[in-house]
Amino acid sequence: MQQFDVIICGAGPAGSTCALGLFDAGLNVALLDKQSFPREKICGDAYGGYAYKILNTISTKFGAKLLAINQGAIIKRAKFVSPKKHLVEIRLKGFFSSLPRTVFDNFLLQMVKEETKTTIFENTTAQKIEVQSDGVIVTTQDGTQLKAKMIIGSDGSHSNVQSALTNARETLVETYPGIRSYYKNVKGVEQDCLEIHFLPNIPKGYFWIFPSTDGLNNVGIAANKKMLAKHHINMRKEFHYLMNEEP
Ligand SMILES: Cc1cc2nc3c(=O)[nH]c(=O)nc-3n(C[C@H](O)[C@H](O)[C@H](O)COP(=O)(O)OP(=O)(O)OC[C@H]3O[C@@H](n4cnc5c(N)ncnc54)[C@H](O)[C@@H]3O)c2cc1C
Repeated sequence: MQQFDVIICGAGPAGSTCALGLFDAGLNVALLDKQSFPREKICGDAYGGYAYKILNTISTKFGAKLLAINQGAIIKRAKFVSPKKHLVEIRLKGFFSSLPRTVFDNFLLQMVKEETKTTIFENTTAQKIEVQSDGVIVTTQDGTQLKAKMIIGSDGSHSNVQSALTNARETLVETYPGIRSYYKNVKGVEQDCLEIHFLPNIPKGYFWIFPSTDGLNNVGIAANKKMLAKHHINMRKEFHYLMNEEP
């Protein structure tokens, strides 16, 4: 059985940043993810200066690398539109940009590969997590066992680590499934502005149009799962309606 000081479960922004944060801690670290990277993640892809600040605090080299890869739109404003089409526009303070998560998350994991001694396991699901008196044993989908003194759960909103270590699973009452796609030649949008539209026929839902790289727009819809079920809303249908009929 392979032994580590720390197992980080999930290599999204949280897990990869955590591995970067441990780069000079002298610890034997494993980082595992059930997917192989680059991988998709439904998201508006917008991020703020805080992401840069965190990486730069860990190491100025990491901060500089983020600035170097970013060719995304520089976002200065956000528009919020109410279900009755009232508009509120705000000016965003500080740095905001966007990078597709396939690029952003992969960039972070590549940096872990290049800049740390972390042992990385992709295509590896932490299926069973057992706490013992001297640490934790993770069993993966093919029966491989990894042992560590500590586990860090960064495995997203449906965290296996969280449910193995706490009783907090039932606190996840509000989930927001989403649909997202990239479009080019979107007319009437400004490439320095986020648009968030709250929808009259989808309670607790929103439609977004965010600037992305290469003149593309990230367009998506997300809504509260319970509301979708309660009002028998088909999100895919709503998305197509909004794209085709709603000016
Ligand atoms: C519709 C929508 C729009 C959003 N828009 C934005 C936005 O514009 N800007 C922004 O900053 N945030 C946005 N967010 C939030 C953002 O997506 C999350 O905050 C972010 O992804 C959290 O990162 P994470 O690393 O914690 O988890 P994740 O990015 O979810 O990564 C978790 C990783 O864990 C892995 N994993 C899961 N289970 C296991 C397991 N058992 N074993 C091994 N690996 C596992 C997964 O494969 C995944 O790679 C949005 C979210 C949604 C739903």
